Amino acid sequence: MVNVTWHELRKRIHLICFAIFVALPFLNIVRADIPRQRFYFAGFELWINEFGIIFFAMMFLMFLIVASSIFYGRVYCGYLCPQMIFSEASVSLETWVRRKVVRKVGHWKAPKRERLVRAILYLLLGVGSVALAFVFISYFVEPSDLFGRLIAFDIRTAAGISGAAVTILTFLDFAFLRQRFCTTVCPYGYLQGILGDGKTLLVQYRDEGHTCIECRKCVRVCPMGIDIRESPFQIECIHCADCIDACDEILGKLKRPGLIHYTWGEKGELASRRKQPWDAKRAIVLAVLFFYACGLSVALSLRRPVLVRVSPERATLYRIADGRVYNRFRYNIANRGSKPSSVVFSLQQLPAATLAIEQNPVSVTPGESASGTFEISVPAGRQNELVTHFAIIATTLPGQVNDTIPMTFLAPSESK
Ligand code: SF4
Ligand code: SF4
Repeated sequence: MVNVTWHELRKRIHLICFAIFVALPFLNIVRADIPRQRFYFAGFELWINEFGIIFFAMMFLMFLIVASSIFYGRVYCGYLCPQMIFSEASVSLETWVRRKVVRKVGHWKAPKRERLVRAILYLLLGVGSVALAFVFISYFVEPSDLFGRLIAFDIRTAAGISGAAVTILTFLDFAFLRQRFCTTVCPYGYLQGILGDGKTLLVQYRDEGHTCIECRKCVRVCPMGIDIRESPFQIECIHCADCIDACDEILGKLKRPGLIHYTWGEKGELASRRKQPWDAKRAIVLAVLFFYACGLSVALSLRRPVLVRVSPERATLYRIADGRVYNRFRYNIANRGSKPSSVVFSLQQLPAATLAIEQNPVSVTPGESASGTFEISVPAGRQNELVTHFAIIATTLPGQVNDTIPMTFLAPSESK
């Protein structure tokens, strides 16, 4: 059992989550860069066409939420959700401002004092909303680019208008909506009703001995304004455990145990006495999560920073000039890594062939693509077949990584 109260533990976790929320986009741990069509995951810059990795990353994150909901119910809402963290911070800020105002101008009439509280609170929330909106939009736009737009007070481009809209919504949310968001807009509480089962973690009131003293402290401290004694399945309950702390504190003074607990389901044991109960459903969910984690690591380990694609241009099958047969090909090189690279093209299994390309090697800077065409020619009459199978070798430097690209060369039938 922890030595701190659930509330203290939750506040510490909130601080860690806040730091993670800010760090994720700035360190490119999770970020979708919409203007550049890139997805960042664990420091990797993924291109939008790297479907495999993005698929595994999405499925892994989705099953992580599913597993957490089946095992621990609404614990995500109470301990990890940014909406809840900032809603509670906004309520605490309001309490702090009110206390300060009462201390300084306690002799003012209550309505005048309240107007001052509101003015200071809205000013602070306004500044906070700009900062929060900045972090939030950084998940979708490069932070340095966004900072430039903020300094320039850009409200004309799409990114600038989105920034202004998110700032206003953030302000309205944390000034007025707060925890009401969880019961009106957020679908997660309803989803939990589907995912949870008879062994999912709950906050439950149990009073077989009828020892409740009706102090109602558990109701007063509840950030969602509900009475947990009515049911452990209320959609508003975010499993924050503030009511557990309240009851432990009140009944502790009477040397009695608290009446509200974390339990494994409605009929299950107290979570403080027994570890997570297991069944086939939980094992399967963990197995699926493990499968996607493995898929993601394999996809990341197989990832090549430089992707080379070559395709034949068959608008004209071939051309003949100066006693040679020419086929035209188009290349596309994507440098998805962080270092400059170059690609050298060469040929295999096509005797007497020459390759005519403007530059060989082709240089590509990090994060950019290069495309162009080249021609391969062989002496006319040297080919025995209409279609000759050969390979184009694309060697990526540095690292000397060879890509063997199977290709066909077409020549006129007279050359047989
Ligand atoms: S009922 Fe208890 S656990 Fe549920 S939201 Fe209220 S204080 Fe938190
Ligand atoms: S805090 Fe405990 S004792 Fe007080 S009303 Fe709630 S359940 Fe009853």
